[in-house]
Amino acid sequence: MNKTATPSELAAAIRNVPDFPQPGIQFKDITPVLADPRLFASSIEHLVANVAPGSVSTVVGIDARGFIFGAAAALKLGAGFVPIRKKGKLPYQTFEESYDLEYGSNTVAIHTDAVRPGDRVIVIDDLLATGGTAQASAKLLKRIGAEIVEIVFLVELAFLNGRSRLEGFPVRSLIVY
Ligand code: AMP
Repeated sequence: MNKTATPSELAAAIRNVPDFPQPGIQFKDITPVLADPRLFASSIEHLVANVAPGSVSTVVGIDARGFIFGAAAALKLGAGFVPIRKKGKLPYQTFEESYDLEYGSNTVAIHTDAVRPGDRVIVIDDLLATGGTAQASAKLLKRIGAEIVEIVFLVELAFLNGRSRLEGFPVRSLIVY
């Protein structure tokens, strides 16, 4: 494999799509990173850089692009993969946590037997915006008694201050806007 791409090379590949899915949103499209084998592999290298293989039992990926990065990271670390999904999508018994949106609220869910008390986990998503999704996910894992080693994002929209909702958790992002 060629040399690992730097976070700025990853940033250069991420496509900004204005007004998607609604007016005023600058959507960060990470699919060009996934489509390029060197960039995809490099993004995983950076996401797991702080974690030694075998040192976490589980990578938790957040619906939906967190599944792509999370699953690849899990294979790299020799860890299992567990999805946190929007309410109503997981088939078995779930623990749930709701969080407020500008209008209304959202609920995330995890299977009750997917993570055990004391498990060491990392949490991965593609992007940190307002932090609501990641905060609810971290709360779920804390309620279960898991140890969150790190919460990592490919992209952070710092102007939305999502980090403030994740105080007390180790948070890292590769690319900051
Ligand atoms: P939030 O809960 O506000 O931090 O939103 C994070 C979730 O929404 C992540 O799973 C992202 O994939 C998605 N998301 C929010 N804003 C954007 C954006 N501007 N571009 C791409 N994805 C976004």
